[in-house]
Amino acid sequence: MQRRTAGLATALGLLAVPHFPGTLEGAAEASVPVRASTEGRIRLLVASGRPEAPAPVSVFPVRGRHELGSAINGFGGGRGHEGQDIFAACGTRVVAARAGRVVEAATAGNEGNYAVVEDADGRQQAYLHLLGPSPARKGDRVGAGERIGKVGATGNADGCHLHFELWTAPGRFTGGRAMNPRPALDRWASEA
Ligand SMILES: [Zn+2]
Repeated sequence: MQRRTAGLATALGLLAVPHFPGTLEGAAEASVPVRASTEGRIRLLVASGRPEAPAPVSVFPVRGRHELGSAINGFGGGRGHEGQDIFAACGTRVVAARAGRVVEAATAGNEGNYAVVEDADGRQQAYLHLLGPSPARKGDRVGAGERIGKVGATGNADGCHLHFELWTAPGRFTGGRAMNPRPALDRWASEA
């Protein structure tokens, strides 16, 4: 019941209905002078039972203190680097930057433990050098902010860091093109 009330109060707030003094309970029970169409929308919002804050569309993939290193750690730095290194303590949580489907979750020589997530548009995100095998399995759907693993140094990695790549459709080594993930990372960091 409390949830319904809070949801209704939020809906009212979003719709800029005049503020009612007193408790949320009181506000919900007050006779609110809203138009029929507005009432319908409130009912929908309440009935959906969604959390009050919408799920994020994108998030910074390393959830903890981090730094981006120098030019050599950026896209195109040293030996055709195809991603951005994000340094953080080994064990720092790594999450999906964008929602999508896990198309690879494996261990390889250079990548170490890694995972690749493909979004609805066919673009891919790659997460390399994870501490242990990703808890995500091939075929899983992950939302932005859902766990991919932990920062590690497996594979060809010098120190604990996430090597993060963004690929255009149709994806990593399957015809797509690696793009500089730095602008997106900077945007996500500023939104955090
Ligand atoms: Zn790297």
